[in-house]
Amino acid sequence: MTPERYAKILRVLSRRQPTLTVLMDQVNKPHNLSAIIRTCDAVGVLEAHAVPPDDGRPLDFEGHTFEATSGSAHKWVRVRRHASAAQAVSDLQGQGFQVLATHLSQRSVDYREADYTRPTCVLLGAEKWGVGDAAASAADGNIIIPMFGMVQSLNVSVAAATILFEAQRQRLAARMYDAPQLSPAELRDRAFEWSYPDMSAEYRERDEPYPTLDDAGQIIL
Ligand code: SAM
Repeated sequence: MTPERYAKILRVLSRRQPTLTVLMDQVNKPHNLSAIIRTCDAVGVLEAHAVPPDDGRPLDFEGHTFEATSGSAHKWVRVRRHASAAQAVSDLQGQGFQVLATHLSQRSVDYREADYTRPTCVLLGAEKWGVGDAAASAADGNIIIPMFGMVQSLNVSVAAATILFEAQRQRLAARMYDAPQLSPAELRDRAFEWSYPDMSAEYRERDEPYPTLDDAGQIIL
């Protein structure tokens, strides 16, 4: 761990937005999952959520199984797995998130009309059938990116990026990237996990608190 690398980790963590997330409902193409997680990292999403595809396969990021942690953006954005979209929507609402389903319905509004400075989860649907009706009606709102072409829908990762960068625009205007949104304790824990992933897994296994790091990211023994 170099001091420069540790400084970058702290800089990135200090802009993470724990109150902005996505729920991917059975998005089954690995390259789409990867692209969405990359966008999450760029926008500052701390954690994403996913319901794995119904075909029994694990969530897969370009050859890495769901649990794999090396070499891609999902190293920096934890993905929490849920058994069903309905349950995930209700859990996230219970945690204070407004869930906005990307879904065309009577109550859909242009995605730019939503207030993303509120704790927000963007619900994204499967490539083939989109967001299920049950999850879309349980959501707090339905949003849509207006389409004026011959094709009816965008690629799911393109839709995710369009909406998440609008969220970033609103949050920048509200100065939500100016000060850390993570508590000092959470920022410290995440900094240790990002700096020392293997060691942090061992600490978690032993159920021990992480050691303290000095200003250069070195472990204080
Ligand atoms: N046939 C599917 C349907 O009827 O919903 C198309 C699904 S689309 C290829 C996959 C996902 O991308 C959607 O569930 C939604 O999350 C997102 N998406 C695609 N186009 C969108 C748009 N114009 N507005 C909002 N979300 C969109």
